[in-house]
Amino acid sequence: MKVLVTGGSGFVGKRLQRVRPDWIYQSSRDVDLTHYGNCLAYIRKVRPDAVVHLAAKVGGIKDNAENPAWFYQDNTRINTNVIQACTLTGVKRVLSSLSTCAFPNIVKEYPFDESNIFDGPPAETNIAYGYSKRALYVHTLACRTQYDLDYSCFSPSNLYGPEDHFDLNKSHFLPAAIRKLHEAEEGEEVEFWGTGEPLRQQLYVDDLCRAIPELLEKHHSDDAVIIAPDFQHSIRQMVALCRDMMNKDVSVSYNGKLDGQYRKDGSNAKFKELCPQFEFTSIEEGLQRTYEWYRESINNRH
Ligand code: NAP
Repeated sequence: MKVLVTGGSGFVGKRLQRVRPDWIYQSSRDVDLTHYGNCLAYIRKVRPDAVVHLAAKVGGIKDNAENPAWFYQDNTRINTNVIQACTLTGVKRVLSSLSTCAFPNIVKEYPFDESNIFDGPPAETNIAYGYSKRALYVHTLACRTQYDLDYSCFSPSNLYGPEDHFDLNKSHFLPAAIRKLHEAEEGEEVEFWGTGEPLRQQLYVDDLCRAIPELLEKHHSDDAVIIAPDFQHSIRQMVALCRDMMNKDVSVSYNGKLDGQYRKDGSNAKFKELCPQFEFTSIEEGLQRTYEWYRESINNRH
């Protein structure tokens, strides 16, 4: 089967290349997917049997909060163009990445599951990105209904790992924490936002990359299958793990401001039904591998 991965040069795409080097990986150098004509011509040229759709404009809280229009415009265009071009060119199978950011910010009961996706708005901090992912989901369901196509979606929780973005303006919590602690001088105090109490699920990127080929084979339903680890940790626990791993004499403080919601966890029960043998990488192991990669990448730059 000829499989095309959109967003193949991104964080997830680069790691997926290690698991499935035989697949075709698209980047924005090959085609600008916000342009329908170019997107259609590209998919016509490649003629894939299946598409794993990862391409997206992705960013951290700051970037999302400052540029919501760009996040909405680019993502709805990319997603609509890819799905429409796939239906028009007869691509039989599409597996698209949503995100647990598309789920409501607040639900009655945690963990939330796939049935909760439309139960309330996504978090204000990434509302445009969240709704663009919901639109991708609705488009996928519409293609299933109208054309009887085997198109489906999965929803990863926050990701971290080697090849992640460590630029402080764009990065997510864990790469930002690793960078801040790594750059701190011995004896320095490093400040973090909030209270450190909120709990978060962090999925190691290579776990997602092991899951994608399995899902391509096994996931054929309407469900926006949640991929999240079995465990969650508080921000405070994760920061402490990072600091201990670096074996550094830095103190950590929390400024109490803009504390995030206490819980945001999603259930992986549906994913476990599809992939019962799947084992998640522990946060300790994942952080160790991420930090090793980060140090190597800085050394290679110097
Ligand atoms: P990323 O590192 O920012 O990579 C984005 C990819 O999309 C890159 O290959 C980029 O190409 C491509 N792309 C962006 N705009 C494009 C355009 N206009 N035309 C063509 N290609 C374009 O993102 P990621 O972290 O790998 O995310 C992959 C998927 O996982 C996304 O759908 C994201 O929503 C989802 N996800 C990510 C996380 C997370 O924590 N990172 C969590 C949940 C879900 P270039 O490299 O050439 O720019």
